[in-house]
Amino acid sequence: MSSTVLNLVDGETILRLLNREVPSAQKRSERILRFIAREGKISEKELQKLFHDEVASCFRTPVDQWLRTGVDAGGVESPRSRTIVREHAMHGVFQYFAMHPPAVSLGAEGLSVFIGEPPEVPNDWTEFFQNAATEANRLLVGLVLSDWRFNIFKCRYCECYYLNPKPRASYLGGTYCSAEHRKSAYAERITAEKRDAAKCGREIVAAKYLVERGVTTSEWHKDAKLKSRVAAAVSIHMAKDPNLCSGRYQVRPHWVSRNCEQIEARRRAFFTSQKTQ
Ligand SMILES: [Zn+2]
Repeated sequence: MSSTVLNLVDGETILRLLNREVPSAQKRSERILRFIAREGKISEKELQKLFHDEVASCFRTPVDQWLRTGVDAGGVESPRSRTIVREHAMHGVFQYFAMHPPAVSLGAEGLSVFIGEPPEVPNDWTEFFQNAATEANRLLVGLVLSDWRFNIFKCRYCECYYLNPKPRASYLGGTYCSAEHRKSAYAERITAEKRDAAKCGREIVAAKYLVERGVTTSEWHKDAKLKSRVAAAVSIHMAKDPNLCSGRYQVRPHWVSRNCEQIEARRRAFFTSQKTQ
């Protein structure tokens, strides 16, 4: 006897909902308060919009958690290692099955199991938000039992959700909706790395300057003249070494003030290593 599992949740609905633009938290709470104040008597258009926004809000968090289970600590994404974690909001899957078990039928073609059939929901306005949560859970069930569950991705650059019909086993640098977004993310990462390296370099120059001047106290940052001299020394090094610049060509005393904790930590490290040599 053959058996068939029929998933009644379609990918298009899920993608549309995941990519739905939801209102800000403030606007959302204003709408909810209005809905409650009017005891659910708002226009059909508003009602539909509120419902879909609520479903999208309930749905996205567990989907994001589930997608992240396929990403290791080094950022490598392997879609087939995605898993359901009970502690995550994914517990909605279990809740849904407990309340709405799949329909099963036995016919001439064999056994049929229906997944994600829309349940009968109460029509009472007080159940509106519970109904939205139920709908989000129904979609979760449909998603994690779908044939294309390993084909859905979230772009790390624009954060849109998309389907890739032929995914690779793993993605070293994460997944992107287009080559253009991969390039943009890479360029931003390189710029950020250069900026961080330049900042570290400037802090090291400042700390070395303090050690060379015989500074042995963490109170040095209270000396305005010394801070000006530190800034000038760092600026001289920046003029010689473009790796210290990253978009700026000199630093002023307020840069020293802003970064005095990091400079002080580096000064102490230099000072200690000098003493132990
Ligand atoms: Zn993108």
